[in-house]
Amino acid sequence: MSKNSILVINCGSSSLKFSVINPETFDESLNGLAERLGSAQGSISWKVGGQKQSRPLGKSGHDDAIKALVDLLREQQLMACIEAIGHRVVHGGEKFTASSLITEEALKGIEDCCHLAPLHNPAHLKGIRAVKRFFPGLAQVAVFDTAFHQTMPAENYLYAIPYHLYREHGLRRYGMHGTSYRFVSKKASDMLGLDYSSSAILVAHLGNGASACAIKDGKSLDTTMGLTPLEGLVMGTRSGDIDPNVFSFLNKRCGYSLEEITDILNKKSGLLGLSEINNDCRVIEDAAKEGNAHAQLTLDVFCNVLAKKLAGFAAEMGRIDALVFTGGIGENSSLIRKNVLKRLSIFGFKVDEVINNATCRGKSGVITQADSPIAMVVGTNEELMIARDTHDLVSSLS
Ligand code: AMP
Repeated sequence: MSKNSILVINCGSSSLKFSVINPETFDESLNGLAERLGSAQGSISWKVGGQKQSRPLGKSGHDDAIKALVDLLREQQLMACIEAIGHRVVHGGEKFTASSLITEEALKGIEDCCHLAPLHNPAHLKGIRAVKRFFPGLAQVAVFDTAFHQTMPAENYLYAIPYHLYREHGLRRYGMHGTSYRFVSKKASDMLGLDYSSSAILVAHLGNGASACAIKDGKSLDTTMGLTPLEGLVMGTRSGDIDPNVFSFLNKRCGYSLEEITDILNKKSGLLGLSEINNDCRVIEDAAKEGNAHAQLTLDVFCNVLAKKLAGFAAEMGRIDALVFTGGIGENSSLIRKNVLKRLSIFGFKVDEVINNATCRGKSGVITQADSPIAMVVGTNEELMIARDTHDLVSSLS
């Protein structure tokens, strides 16, 4: 059997997502999730050939999850086709401007970024070390969410706070969702027959976490997320931009501690906090359709914040070759797309209602009329991008 597939791993603090992808044919032969790691209810579930299965892991950590994954790969006779392993890594700080082979030096670099993503990078490191033990002969590659945004100019990544905080602590805007932006913008450019290296593409990645990015000449020029994924757009449970003095207001006036305020802004705000209904856009849309004015107001705030950011990015880029919607909301919600494009009518956007309404998960294409600037939907595929980067880096070694 030829080594034609990449094992893609996304390791969280209590979960481990995996898939086996052929980076050339895009075929995914296996995907799954080990979850509740660290508790007594650990389990691993997977899908192969359209069939879902699972088994308990009991009290287990990342090592046990990787061992269970090795067993599974053996059972499915996939072990021999794994060429290398690609890891999603959230934060690469300023050190990583592209995907990297995982060497001792790279491991140290990922470790040095732990203070920038304290929930994510330590979990990635656990996964990488466990993989090293169980797949000793295979190369590993780290693909960073932040790397794509390292092309942002200083005027876009600096906060207007004392400069020494940047110099000494790396306190700046980094941005996230970079792997998705790379995939989606390149695919949009190919679909439209543009020259990627001289294109101007806006992407709205709207999932439970949401951000937008201005991609000029194939490079990130500006993005909405900052030091952490809290900054920017209204999200499922995150507030996005707020007045930083909200912290002292909530502390002094309402008595919340620093931890409680962080929790409110990250986990109890956004669509959930504002609507007082749900963090899922579908549920809020259904409520709005039934006449719930507060649900409608929540959607309007979401779209308004997004439209204002996109308009600012358009001004920065000087033109828009395409505005691309992606992520769970971007790919599925014709209502949100229509509402956002209406707010951007100053740029001449005119939605094709029939095509927009027919475009949902799994479908990519232009949703605007012939005499409008182009807005389109492109399904994201971060796993495939990780598989491709891993394959490219490993191939370049031989
Ligand atoms: P993601 O994080 O990219 O998987 O996106 C998940 C989110 O997509 C969910 O929380 C929903 O808010 C949203 N979503 C999925 N399907 C729809 C839909 N048909 N209409 C509106 N929002 C949707």
